[in-house]
Amino acid sequence: HDADVKIGEDVKSPPLAGPNAMNVILVAAECAPWSKTGGLGDVAGALPKALAKRGHRVMVVAPRYGNYAELQDTGVRKRYKVNGQDMEVHYFQAYIDGVDFVFIENHMFNNLGSNIYGGNRTDILRRMVLFCKAAIEVPWHVPCGGLCYGDGNLVFIANDWHTALLPVYLKAYYHEYGLMQYARSVLVIHNIAHQGRGPVDDFSYVDLPPHYLDLFRMYDPIGGEHFNIFAAGLKSAYQIVTVSHGYAWELKTTEGGHGLHGIIQENDWKLKGIVNGIDKKEWNPRLDIHLTSDGYTNYSLETLNTGKPQCKAALQKELGLPVRADVPLIGFIGRLDNQKGVDLICEAIPWMVSQDVQLVMLGTGQPELERMLREMENRYHEKVRGWVGFSVKMAHRITAGADVLLMPSKFEPCGLNQLYAMCYGTIPVVHAVGGLKDTVQPFDPYNESGLGWTFHRAESGQLIHALGNCLFTYREYKSSWEGIQNRGMMQDLSWDNAAHQYEEVLVTAKYQW
Ligand code: ADP
Repeated sequence: HDADVKIGEDVKSPPLAGPNAMNVILVAAECAPWSKTGGLGDVAGALPKALAKRGHRVMVVAPRYGNYAELQDTGVRKRYKVNGQDMEVHYFQAYIDGVDFVFIENHMFNNLGSNIYGGNRTDILRRMVLFCKAAIEVPWHVPCGGLCYGDGNLVFIANDWHTALLPVYLKAYYHEYGLMQYARSVLVIHNIAHQGRGPVDDFSYVDLPPHYLDLFRMYDPIGGEHFNIFAAGLKSAYQIVTVSHGYAWELKTTEGGHGLHGIIQENDWKLKGIVNGIDKKEWNPRLDIHLTSDGYTNYSLETLNTGKPQCKAALQKELGLPVRADVPLIGFIGRLDNQKGVDLICEAIPWMVSQDVQLVMLGTGQPELERMLREMENRYHEKVRGWVGFSVKMAHRITAGADVLLMPSKFEPCGLNQLYAMCYGTIPVVHAVGGLKDTVQPFDPYNESGLGWTFHRAESGQLIHALGNCLFTYREYKSSWEGIQNRGMMQDLSWDNAAHQYEEVLVTAKYQW
């Protein structure tokens, strides 16, 4: 009965029964907590655990970029050819929270430090060729818990262009030779803006028979004829997932598909949008370790009215802003990149500072945007703070202490910060694109429904309009404000729900022959 289900409550489905359990291998260029530059790392760290909880045998394969303490050397060594050169990889392993983590070591990975996408185009390409070749053979060579996964009942989950060669290799090296007949591949699009583009000559690096070139050859008015790894992966994968319904739709438009909209349209039949979950161990105001000192406090829905103001006061104090409960505190957290709409915030700042508000922005990225953050802090020191840096602790504290979180992204495949904000009773004001559109239903004062404020064109005037309405409600309609906070905090945004939807895609792929 719908009426019995609380807003946002997950309708739990039972774990898949034993005989139907699959072997799942997620292959990604980054995996939190070992390596992370953005949402992809979070997904690779969390989704596999949720799939394992549903009864599947699950492995993650990632490059080994450093000396990770938890890992054991499996002793397995293999050699693969990359552009004619023989390369050796070592396989390392750990078993954590029900998941097998396998790391692939080669000097090309562990010389990178934290700059995991560093180097020139062909360096990155060579790394990804080696990584995909080595990852696809893990189920044959690397015993986990004493037993290799084997290639039956197996589904690979590849992620973004870095591992989009895996579905192609599965076909070209294995299926065409009658090998791995029952292994399938799913490709997840976290961000279509990066595609592994290069000149057509790059085909020589991927080491495939000549008739495969057509899979990679693309033409668009900006790049002309070029080589495109994401395109080949999308055509070859059995199923495609992207990280929200909104983004799934946008990918098919000229603007949103970044040149691949035609391919996505042709493959729409195998495309599904699934919104990412969040790690409720890390992002939970009740348990958050970053709220246990410096005047902050843990809180929950029951203690929101005392806990959140305490966090706000602690944040104001830490930032050197006037400690005032009544002034709305607005936050922004994210990469300083055009994608994130930082320019819109900067354009709106003169209006914001004409109001009685405080604003804190945390981010790193493009040097001119970092300069802009510092300049805004200097110019409007009474009201604005621009914190340039990557600080997980500050990200948690701002999420807890702020009243409002701005996300005016130009495009946003899923977006995590708006999900974190809602769990902490912080109201999102977002550009209605991609995952932001999926997850922030606009506040409707007539029905007292919705989770935040949205605007439909990436323009500072629209941002100001939405934020103006938000601030008006904050000041004048306390009970509506609390209603929005409560609905946000009561949602189940954990990975359990998303894992169930991934499972359906994996099953479809498995029976696709
Ligand atoms: P994207 O993957 O496009 O960067 P997401 O919203 O999916 O965006 O994920 C970004 C992640 O990185 C979030 O966990 C966010 O809190 C974190 N993050 C971004 N910038 C910073 C920063 N300067 N300091 C701390 N964490 C940050």
